[in-house]
Amino acid sequence: MPMYDFQCQHCGHGFEALVRGSSPLPACPACASTEVGRQVSAPVAPGKSKAIIASNRRLAAAQGHFSNFTPGERAKLLKG
Ligand SMILES: [Zn+2]
Repeated sequence: MPMYDFQCQHCGHGFEALVRGSSPLPACPACASTEVGRQVSAPVAPGKSKAIIASNRRLAAAQGHFSNFTPGERAKLLKG
């Protein structure tokens, strides 16, 4: 049974609940509202991962290799 993060649309309270595929959404433990939204939990936020990739590339460039670039990007860099 997966555990999901929910946020109440009514009072904004965030909570975790175990949910079965067929069961209805849980009620908010703070206000008992069933207007709750399931939070989509991503391992890394898109903006954050871009920043990580950028910093890895800067590091690689500083070290004089292009291991963090794709083959296409490497070709462009070598041409330029
Ligand atoms: Zn609530």
